[in-house]
Amino acid sequence: LRAQLLDRQERRESAARTYARTLPVAPVTALGAEVTGADGRTYLDCLSGAGTLALGHNHPAVTGALRTALDSGAPLHTLDMITPQKDAFTTELLVRLPGDLRDRAKLHFCSPAGTDAVEAAVKLARDATGRTGIVSFTGAYHGMTLGAAALSGPSRMRGGSAGTGPADAQPVTRLPYPYGYRCPFGLGAEEGGRLSARLLENYLTDPSSGVGTPAAVILEVVQGEGGVVEGPDSWLREIRRVTAENNVLLIIDEVQTGIGRTGDYWACERAGVTPDILVTSKAVGGGLPLALIAYDPALDTWRPGDHTGTFRGNTLAMVAGEITLRTVAEEQLAERAAKLGGTIRAGLRELAREHRHIGEVRGRGLMIGAELVDPEGEADELGSLPAAPEFASRLRAACLARGLMLELGGRRDSVLRLLPPLVLSDEQADSVLNRLSDALADVER
Ligand code: PMP
Repeated sequence: LRAQLLDRQERRESAARTYARTLPVAPVTALGAEVTGADGRTYLDCLSGAGTLALGHNHPAVTGALRTALDSGAPLHTLDMITPQKDAFTTELLVRLPGDLRDRAKLHFCSPAGTDAVEAAVKLARDATGRTGIVSFTGAYHGMTLGAAALSGPSRMRGGSAGTGPADAQPVTRLPYPYGYRCPFGLGAEEGGRLSARLLENYLTDPSSGVGTPAAVILEVVQGEGGVVEGPDSWLREIRRVTAENNVLLIIDEVQTGIGRTGDYWACERAGVTPDILVTSKAVGGGLPLALIAYDPALDTWRPGDHTGTFRGNTLAMVAGEITLRTVAEEQLAERAAKLGGTIRAGLRELAREHRHIGEVRGRGLMIGAELVDPEGEADELGSLPAAPEFASRLRAACLARGLMLELGGRRDSVLRLLPPLVLSDEQADSVLNRLSDALADVER
């Protein structure tokens, strides 16, 4: 069956399939952190729908709530009209929002992907300020639609020709993200962060810098696709100070980091920073497509019709989202992610002592990365070794052969990324490390 399904997919779908090529699994059933394929094999899922499944596959609370909604006769789709399910979702979301946004933010439901919410955030920032420029960071990933792609960098992360079309007509200035292992200034993350924030301050306060004051700065607190790169808290606080003092909006993209993933409910909370516009998708819909922005009510300048779309909210996504938001809070799954992530990172650091291809282990909570390097390559001034993209790709295949699904990311696709569901058990965490250890030995053999 597996061969049949993969073969038909190969013939019917675009050659641009990505996960299907690197992870040739045909999932049939799934529960928690495990996926069983059409070949009868069970895999540990450290991808969890690119981080959407905070509660794992088919969590009984989610499937139960979905069944109840389906049996109740509720309309599946009502555009942006209010339903009891939507009301329950917004009630739950509002109390979970960070800082000043809690209980008082305005919400705008967007078309259902992360990239749609990024587009909405940027458009709102431009409309509310009357300015057009946006500042983003190197290594960022904000999505694949033209506007969001223009904010992402390098070009590989914008996909196809998206980076060269009309999207680039919007003035985007890219500043260096404080990437400690490969710091563009040859400095560590803290020092690099200070310089990154100072560059922003100079840019905003020096009228000769060119394009004039931008509408907003957009950032990820931990870059996901960029290779699980963490911006230091001091950097984030500086960016918040500089943007506030210069009347520039701060958009934080928590599409991947939100809902407990990094060990806090929202990644920005650890530094005590609240954005003017928070972007969320992925886990907020409990595995169903949902995306929205939450923002300072002072920015609520749109009129009816200014930003619409057919699929702006869907009853089942609201139901799955509401129960997910509540369960993550009530079962303290962010704390669990912090603890379990610490254990996995410690295990990976153990492995790094034996396996010189692991250059650095990083991440927060259950957003985990390992920078894969060429141990025979020449070290730079920070002692960092060159990326090892081929090794990384062979390691991903070896992991799959050992029953472990994971992804790569980073500047040259040489960062191993783990995004397991927050409900991963201690035994499963051990198993992830054991399988990874075996796969490393397989590839190095
Ligand atoms: N922003 C971030 C930080 C992301 O990680 C992603 C997806 N990986 C997106 C935006 C885009 O989300 P989507 O793929 O749902 O469009």
